[in-house]
Amino acid sequence: MKTKENVEVLVIGSGIAGIATAYYLCTRYRKSSVLLVDPRAPMSFTSAQSGDNYRNWWPHPTMTDFTNHSIDLMEQIAGETSNVINMTRRGYLLATRRKDIDDLIAGLHIGYQRSGKDSIRVHDAASRLSYRAPDADDWRTAPAGVDVLSKHELIRQVFPSISEDIANVVHIRRGGDISGQQLGQYMLEKIRSAGGKRLVASVRSVEIGQRFSVEVEGPTASERIKADVLVDAAGPFAGEVAAMVGVDLPIENVYQQKIAFDDRKGAIPRRLPFAIDLDGFEFEWSDEERAFLSEDAEMSWLIEPLPGGAHCRPEGGDKGTWVKLGWAFNRNVSLPQQDLANEPLMRSEYPEILMRAATRLNPSLKTYTDNMPTRFSHYGGYYTMTRENWPLIGPLGVDGAFIAGALSGFGSMSACAAGALCAAWIADGDLPEYASQLSLARYADEQLVAELAAAPSKGLL
Ligand SMILES: Cc1cc2nc3c(=O)[nH]c(=O)nc-3n(C[C@H](O)[C@H](O)[C@H](O)COP(=O)(O)OP(=O)(O)OC[C@H]3O[C@@H](n4cnc5c(N)ncnc54)[C@H](O)[C@@H]3O)c2cc1C
Repeated sequence: MKTKENVEVLVIGSGIAGIATAYYLCTRYRKSSVLLVDPRAPMSFTSAQSGDNYRNWWPHPTMTDFTNHSIDLMEQIAGETSNVINMTRRGYLLATRRKDIDDLIAGLHIGYQRSGKDSIRVHDAASRLSYRAPDADDWRTAPAGVDVLSKHELIRQVFPSISEDIANVVHIRRGGDISGQQLGQYMLEKIRSAGGKRLVASVRSVEIGQRFSVEVEGPTASERIKADVLVDAAGPFAGEVAAMVGVDLPIENVYQQKIAFDDRKGAIPRRLPFAIDLDGFEFEWSDEERAFLSEDAEMSWLIEPLPGGAHCRPEGGDKGTWVKLGWAFNRNVSLPQQDLANEPLMRSEYPEILMRAATRLNPSLKTYTDNMPTRFSHYGGYYTMTRENWPLIGPLGVDGAFIAGALSGFGSMSACAAGALCAAWIADGDLPEYASQLSLARYADEQLVAELAAAPSKGLL
């Protein structure tokens, strides 16, 4: 087998994690010998399934700092490019029927403890004077911090479309959506003009020597590539790639689904921020339906108590008509499929189930429950995650090998910080304080491991 290329850095995977790592290597550290290898088109696997939402709300200050940094970097790109990444900011609404939300407020104080700019403001008067409603979607004018709307009249005034029984709404202001595809394309152009390249091929094996000798299989032939540095950015297949250099990664893949539909009936106001229903619930079924579901082993979970988390947001701007719905309730681990259409958990019943779950917070969606929208798409992909739902970014434990992965359901929003961090590890750049906590080194910190294992929330949405 011939050796075709000699490169300094070989990035395995051209999803958003690999692209962002290559981007910061090329732009910040002036590397030009960077090769992205992937059998697929860039941004076409998990990164094509993202809801493209972002937020700085996390139960732990390390994840808050990490995503805040990523949002800073996205703002920088948006600012430099007349917002080519379509960044908007109306925030995240966390809605609950619970009257006592002391635990939720305490969680906000923990998550935001290190980021002084994120003050928490409680609005318990009926007037909206003290509260800035998210009328505009411009990220440059949106307020920072968190608003807690605790007065029923105020919630009705500002968000009349959400369910009447909602008693409290927490409005995370530094949140919104971006175009992940545009972000990836922008970075690819910069990589290309810095001399970085792409190769359409799959990495099959790695020999560790003075340099890595990597066997890749392209559409017509196999070849070897010599590289000084390897980056495992293989998304759901990061475990397979790490195993090629003898490393066993503590990650699993969990399949999650979403739908997007053309809201021709205008059920969802175009200015509604990303809105999530925090409360667990049970579906209401007739006796006949209940009996039918209980006999189907794959569907009987629908008659059990279910977790909260169904969420909804308008897609495509104020003049658009599409809406996205999601609900990351699945906890079963999958063996990742190369062809997402083969994932057994992709069930045709899901869109209707999700629509029904979403009516709890958005009653106007009932117009679709017996008559699903004519135009909708149902899609899904893997949350590649560690147990604690923190990413793995940094050294793999083999000299010269690094990982940018386990980005779970937050890979689009954290891609910039993840790429910048992985590039800093590789190029001996300045590392942020949280660097080792987000790397494999965290597993040597017993106190942190115990703290994360005991955490009531892992920030999974
Ligand atoms: C349904 C869903 C909704 C989501 N919503 C959001 C959201 O709203 N906000 C957010 O921030 N995040 C969201 N995410 C998460 C986000 O999409 C992912 O975290 C992110 O796309 C992961 O990017 P990646 O580059 O790690 O993986 P991928 O995009 O999967 O890229 C990995 C690449 O590696 C390649 N590869 C694998 N093995 C090899 C090999 N041996 N050789 C060469 N190449 C290889 C693959 O072909 C693939 O292209 C969502 C995810 C899903 C599934």
